[in-house]
Amino acid sequence: MASGHALDYDHVVYAVGSTAAVPSVPGAAEYAFPIAEWEHAQRLRARLDTLPREAPIIVVGGGPTGIETAAELIEQGRAVTLVCGRALMPSLSAAGRRYVAKWLSRHGVTVIEGDTVAEVRPEAVVFADGAVRASALTIWTTGFGVPRLAAESGLRTDALGRLLTDETLTSIDDDRIVATGDAAAPSGQPLRMSGQAAGPLGAQAADTVLNHIAGTEPAVIDLALMRTCLSLGRRAGIWQLARKDDTAVNIYIGGRAGARIKEMTCKIGVGKIRREAGEPGSLGWLEGDPRPAQPASTASKVRSA
Ligand SMILES: Cc1cc2nc3c(=O)[nH]c(=O)nc-3n(C[C@H](O)[C@H](O)[C@H](O)COP(=O)(O)OP(=O)(O)OC[C@H]3O[C@@H](n4cnc5c(N)ncnc54)[C@H](O)[C@@H]3O)c2cc1C
Repeated sequence: MASGHALDYDHVVYAVGSTAAVPSVPGAAEYAFPIAEWEHAQRLRARLDTLPREAPIIVVGGGPTGIETAAELIEQGRAVTLVCGRALMPSLSAAGRRYVAKWLSRHGVTVIEGDTVAEVRPEAVVFADGAVRASALTIWTTGFGVPRLAAESGLRTDALGRLLTDETLTSIDDDRIVATGDAAAPSGQPLRMSGQAAGPLGAQAADTVLNHIAGTEPAVIDLALMRTCLSLGRRAGIWQLARKDDTAVNIYIGGRAGARIKEMTCKIGVGKIRREAGEPGSLGWLEGDPRPAQPASTASKVRSA
């Protein structure tokens, strides 16, 4: 522990989650604001409160966090530019992406695709081609990173630092350690970092520990996400359907209905955690992710090899 205390264990659940990726772009760590944690959001709000309404804000990152942030700010009457890198949320279907792009431009967000920010300055960003754009506030949403704890503890991880496990979420280095949520990389093929995956994975990690204690074979992961849900301000949203392997199909629900579904999924997500806490084992999820389903012991051996 940071305090210097040591705790003995029989089993550890490694669930340290994720936070904003440490940016490698010059100036980003010093001058841009991340928004991956509660404290980041509080710091960002305090900075926003000091800015006049017309001050230019640049959100860097065209994924769900960047889109939701840009949408909330434009609804508050801010001047917002969203810099997407290659493209606006490529994981949406073409039709879903068109819908989001239209919503953003109709509400006044300037969306820049096919260009990246190469440097952040206190009052501007510099693009890859040297162009400079004024920015009173730069918000950095280019992706998540994970704590280095597993790697620093000498356990094997994927390139990002997620703990490598077999398909039962058991560490390939030590079967007393079970990883779950954003910090786990089962078979080196992690599920999308999301609350959607983390809930069921948490329940599965608990089952795996119980199996280890009982000396029985834990089950392998069988989880399908099959949807993405984004809010676009307070009154619109998009519910994008996907295949079992998490690739988008050309079906989405937008507008107010999308917003209601998004709001409902947040409530259901919290409700599921509350119910599971009160009634362990009650959590259900869509099954059928076409991951390589191998018996636990085989998976463990294959991945260790
Ligand atoms: C802005 C934003 C919007 C999001 N929106 C959605 C969404 O709409 N839908 C969706 O499905 N997902 C969404 N996500 C993703 C979702 O929040 C995460 O995927 C989910 O919280 C992961 O759960 P977790 O339990 O793995 O980790 P986390 O929720 O990250 O929890 C990890 C916990 O571990 C603690 N911890 C870390 N290191 C240590 C340590 N060394 N010792 C002790 N404790 C430690 C942390 O303090 C934290 O409490 C969003 C994320 C962000 C940032």
